Amino acid sequence: MSAKIKVAILGATGAVGQRFVQLLENHPWFEISALAASERSAGKAYTEAVNWKLDTPLPERVRKLPVLEAKPGFEAAIAFSGLDSKVAGPIEEEFAQAGYAVISNSKNHRMDEDVPLLLPEINADHIGLIEIQKNKRGYKKGFIVTNSNCSAMALCLGLAPIDQAFGIEKVMVTTLQAISGAGYPGVPALDIVGNVIPYIGEEEEKMERETQKILGKFKNGKIENHPMILSATTTRVPVIDGHTESVNVKLQKRVSLDEVKSAFRNYFSVPQKLKLPSAPEHPVVLKEEIDRPQPRLDVNIQKGMATIVGRVRPCPIFDWKFVILGHNTIRGAAGAAILNAELLKSQGFLS
Ligand code: NAP
Repeated sequence: MSAKIKVAILGATGAVGQRFVQLLENHPWFEISALAASERSAGKAYTEAVNWKLDTPLPERVRKLPVLEAKPGFEAAIAFSGLDSKVAGPIEEEFAQAGYAVISNSKNHRMDEDVPLLLPEINADHIGLIEIQKNKRGYKKGFIVTNSNCSAMALCLGLAPIDQAFGIEKVMVTTLQAISGAGYPGVPALDIVGNVIPYIGEEEEKMERETQKILGKFKNGKIENHPMILSATTTRVPVIDGHTESVNVKLQKRVSLDEVKSAFRNYFSVPQKLKLPSAPEHPVVLKEEIDRPQPRLDVNIQKGMATIVGRVRPCPIFDWKFVILGHNTIRGAAGAAILNAELLKSQGFLS
């Protein structure tokens, strides 16, 4: 068996960084060789620097690893980034310049023309941008690949099956987003307990523009955005993990309820065909119970890597409406980045 690929985690102490540590324990292809965070954490052992918030024990292998400053110099081929977006942009560029494959969760480079906003079920061919990026930026070996905002991720997986089958013209979406989406310590308890906050800074714009890029086509060296019109309203609710979204869609043609449901049920794509280690067997799971999906009951279906769809029904204003649920720190962040790395390895980008 060949040796595992060494990976560093930038922002390893944060909500997303902790998920990376959890999901990479016993990964068949990757092993953690370095953990980095801010200078507040640098120099401490990981177990002292991190305020571990996950429901599995902190993996033994990384407890005593020293937290380093987020500067190139680690022995690793991949730098997974869960860095605070206030600092992620230039640090990620520095790592790509230094030869690392930077696979990022932060917003900073998502909309760069030469950076893939990758979601392997939908746009695996967007990795064609990597060579263009390397040439344009003069990166010899390294590059930057991003995954989307957590609510856009769940939405895109919920839209792709019906877009590919029937074409989508318009989307109206309202989210009910979990607290862990705001990182740690995130939203103060006095603001969120027993409450709904009807505003998340920049989230609506991110959902609208990232969805068009993700569902767009790679043509003549560029991404042509999907022409669908989107309108998003985003809210924060007192749920720990799992973003719920109420979605209304207008399609390009008339179809039956059975056809819509069967598009969701039969959705299957590149990561499933390639049998990538983190690929969910079913990237979209259709629930038929009238009161599902619910975050507490359904967020961990398919190990948090699927979008759960339920309540599919006709819409008197648009054509169809349904509810979706996605795990924001797994498929919406660290799990998505790991799946992106697996796709890149399978296509020879990490050799
Ligand atoms: P978080 O809990 O606030 O963690 C931020 C991380 O960045 C910490 O490890 C922190 O280290 C590190 N950091 C801060 N300043 C730094 C600096 N100057 N140099 C190096 N490291 C620094 O945030 P998060 O929720 O994990 O989010 C991380 C990124 O992923 C953000 O860009 C966010 O928008 C994105 N994202 C989050 C989610 C989600 O569901 N939470 C989903 C998708 C995308 P210290 O502990 O040392 O301060």
